[in-house]
Amino acid sequence: MLKPGATIGILGGGQLARMLALAAAPLGLRCHVYSPEKDSCAFDVVHAGTCAKYDDEASLGRFAGAVDVITYEFENVPAKTAAFLARRRPVLPDPQVLETTQDRLVEKNFISALKIATAPYGPVHSATQLSDGIVITGLPAVLKTRQLGYDGKGQAKIAKGGDPVAAWRSLHNEPCIVEGFIDFEREVSVVAARSRDGKVECFEVTENEHRDHILRISRVPAKVTPALANEARQIASRIAKAFDYVGVLAVEMFVVRKGSGRKLLVNEIAPRVHNSGHWTIDGATVSQFEQHIRAVAGWTLGKPVRHGRVEMTNLIGAEVNGYAQWLGEPGVSVHLYGKTNPYPGRKMGHVTRVAPGGDKA
Ligand code: AMP
Repeated sequence: MLKPGATIGILGGGQLARMLALAAAPLGLRCHVYSPEKDSCAFDVVHAGTCAKYDDEASLGRFAGAVDVITYEFENVPAKTAAFLARRRPVLPDPQVLETTQDRLVEKNFISALKIATAPYGPVHSATQLSDGIVITGLPAVLKTRQLGYDGKGQAKIAKGGDPVAAWRSLHNEPCIVEGFIDFEREVSVVAARSRDGKVECFEVTENEHRDHILRISRVPAKVTPALANEARQIASRIAKAFDYVGVLAVEMFVVRKGSGRKLLVNEIAPRVHNSGHWTIDGATVSQFEQHIRAVAGWTLGKPVRHGRVEMTNLIGAEVNGYAQWLGEPGVSVHLYGKTNPYPGRKMGHVTRVAPGGDKA
């Protein structure tokens, strides 16, 4: 268990690391960010920063020597980097989680082994496997590269009557999975925290609206029945337990109609704090960032209580230039990530609106 004054090392220097560091400060904990990009926005708010590549063992060694525990803000931490650091300091969540979540096929197999439903899927390493996969998924379907895809990158839709081989070629014939295209009613996520002693605290189910594959708005409460919300939280808890997870993870799910009812299909696991949990900074008594810091520090998790109806809107690309319009709005909090170049699709900040009372979605 870390004492106040201890230092948490964070791999990655984007807005997630920045908000982790901002949450650590009120607990008397320091953060040291390690990032290869010198304009990383987390460097602005941390006790210490190291700007070096992920394969620079001298820098990694010094970083490990300067911190008490190490965590990460993104799932594509190179396996070698994580292993090197784990020999020197505790790395939490355990890097074996990365092996599963860095690969969509391994991840889907892991979820299925827990008897949790996903979209139908199959591996694609050859044209033959592609047509075998489509027998399982039907059309339309989505091809996704097994590695390094995010915000819709590394994905190609195969329409009904479309050409699967051409879709795969558009992804440079990389190893993929093919998934059935889900006609979902809504998308939801659960952000869950698990402490070092195995206690799980889930935030309430969040409803997510995407635009161009990028999260646009998160709303809480989600428009789901209490039973479905409970099931969603159970799914996230089971995944966290199965990983023996320490820290915050997010599970993205589709809500689909099933007869007159609804069911959940897990789309993806993010082994980190997540954009759909940003609402918790202003909308709950404990944020996802604080929960993550508490968990990796070996502290007791908070019991989050929501302040009201909450809506979080991402400021993407040039939208950030309109930040001033939100400053005087009642119940609205503005978060700017301090990034200089607002290129299209880049997450530059977010605004959260909290409407006290009224629990109806
Ligand atoms: P992902 O990168 O897997 O999180 O996908 C990004 C977004 O693409 C999701 O949030 C969905 O809106 C959409 N999407 C991904 N997979 C599917 C699917 N199998 N069926 C329908 N929409 C999907």
